[in-house]
Amino acid sequence: MDNKLLDNLRHSCAHLLAKSVKDLWPGTHNGIGPSIENGFYQDFDFGETKISESDLPKIEEKMRQILPMWKSFTYNEVTLAEAKKLFKENPYKIEMAEEFAKGGKKLMTNNPGNFLDLCKMGHVEHPDKELTHFKLLSVAGAYWRGSEKNKMLTRIYGTCFPTAKELEDFLLRQDEAKKRDHKKISKELELFLISPSVGSGFPLYMPKGALLKRLLENWLIEEKEKRGFQFVWTPHIGKSDLYKQSGHWQKFDAMFNPMKVDDDEYVLKPMNCPHHFQIFNVRPRSYRELPLYLAENATVYRYEKAGELNGLFRVRALTQDDTHAFVRDQDISAEIQKVIDLTFHVYETFGFKNYKARISVRDPKNPDKYLGEVKNWDRAEKALVDAMKSQDVEYFVAEGEAAFYGPKIDVMVKDSLGREWQLTTVQLDFVQPENFDMKYINENGKEERPAVLHVAILGSVDRFFGILIEHFAGAFPVWLAPVQLTLIPIADRHQKAANILRDELKTQRIRVDVDDRQESMQSKIRQATLQKVPFLGIIGDKEITLDNLNYKNINVNLRSRDGKNLGVYNFDKLLSFLKLEIDNKN
Ligand SMILES: [Zn+2]
Ligand SMILES: [Zn+2]
Repeated sequence: MDNKLLDNLRHSCAHLLAKSVKDLWPGTHNGIGPSIENGFYQDFDFGETKISESDLPKIEEKMRQILPMWKSFTYNEVTLAEAKKLFKENPYKIEMAEEFAKGGKKLMTNNPGNFLDLCKMGHVEHPDKELTHFKLLSVAGAYWRGSEKNKMLTRIYGTCFPTAKELEDFLLRQDEAKKRDHKKISKELELFLISPSVGSGFPLYMPKGALLKRLLENWLIEEKEKRGFQFVWTPHIGKSDLYKQSGHWQKFDAMFNPMKVDDDEYVLKPMNCPHHFQIFNVRPRSYRELPLYLAENATVYRYEKAGELNGLFRVRALTQDDTHAFVRDQDISAEIQKVIDLTFHVYETFGFKNYKARISVRDPKNPDKYLGEVKNWDRAEKALVDAMKSQDVEYFVAEGEAAFYGPKIDVMVKDSLGREWQLTTVQLDFVQPENFDMKYINENGKEERPAVLHVAILGSVDRFFGILIEHFAGAFPVWLAPVQLTLIPIADRHQKAANILRDELKTQRIRVDVDDRQESMQSKIRQATLQKVPFLGIIGDKEITLDNLNYKNINVNLRSRDGKNLGVYNFDKLLSFLKLEIDNKN
């Protein structure tokens, strides 16, 4: 089903919801009821009545009662005065009618049977036959028109699909997504926390989470250094003037309020670009130094509305895996190619197999909107398209989506639940080199301007970490698992052997712990499995000879976290097995 038809289906279902609610709670006013990704919602003003998710089954029942009477929508064009009269009870509909009229839009009332309404239109032909596969999902508060100055309304979310099978699949995925919620898993595994004393949107990483984040970042540093990126470090604040020069001050609205230090005004940095530009500009550059890649895993600070903060997905302090590449015009294509190769290598390492790219280019009808020379744009856009063509990856070109300072590539990946995430951005920029008067000396001793590529492969490392938690449901691959092996001594007399083995494995950089609680073996196995530790090594009488204990003569009975028995391993075999698992990034 194409998107338009699906939108019509879901928006029509929002009408059915509105009618049912108004039947159950007379006097309730409905606001807007649009189709959204994965479903629809309908806003209501319930007056003094409070409803909750426990009311949803009752509403669904009402919807099923009403539906057979809805054979088709009938329409009627009305004047504003007529609309105001018809909907005189409902201030929200009157506001909408006034707005439609002001925008020169026809005012159409619709009625699928026994419910007169006014909306932006877009409905199914035969509601009674088409709207059967729906489900109400949740209830939330929402300000009318999204503005905190307006009244708080009640928003009911639901979804509707063309077939029972699609609805069922969707609900199963929803269920699985709830189980995999990164905030929930993080609590169980102790990865990160949001402390109200520190502030919403400022995540604190606990030892296991910090370890994982560091492993991620270090691996990226390695992969980038292999490809010639050079890492820098820049502080978390900068003078306001720096952002005035870059233009962010005027255009970027997520900056925190400035603070005064001595006579100067400073801000928390919302991005690293102007800091890195200072490093490029430190001395005259030669063409021999280009392309120059300056990279940093740097924390930036962005003001996000409190209501939009969400675990690691949306925070106010985020670490970007940021890179600024300073390139000559003739090298743009090759360098983008290189960055895209690295990007796909990164995705494959994490088992993301399904991705596609969007190339944002100029609006051909509005060539004046863009800064920089036309021939550079032509070349740059072609470079982006060529870079994608040479990859075996789905891409599409979005005309008019480019920023005024340059075209870009965004890459979206699908996780193990089939949800799509936008991760990588490669943004070409012709304007910042002007703003910061960047130049290099070419082969003929003449000055030229480089172009800048802004590259973030994971985007926000924090958000990526959240995605990984849900993608793996907390069962991280061995190379990332905070604990790779838990040793389980069956009885007290096996404790010492477990400790000896642990200490030796630790010197070999294996992340190993011993469960020395006074618990049964079964309960220790359960605990390690809940903690999603990849391997469990059980040590009992059969595995050791108690006299002359030495790591070389301690065996373990090895199990995987999915319950497979892998057999008996001595130290050497265990170590090479684990090292191989780690190296292969399994
Ligand atoms: Zn409608
Ligand atoms: Zn940048």
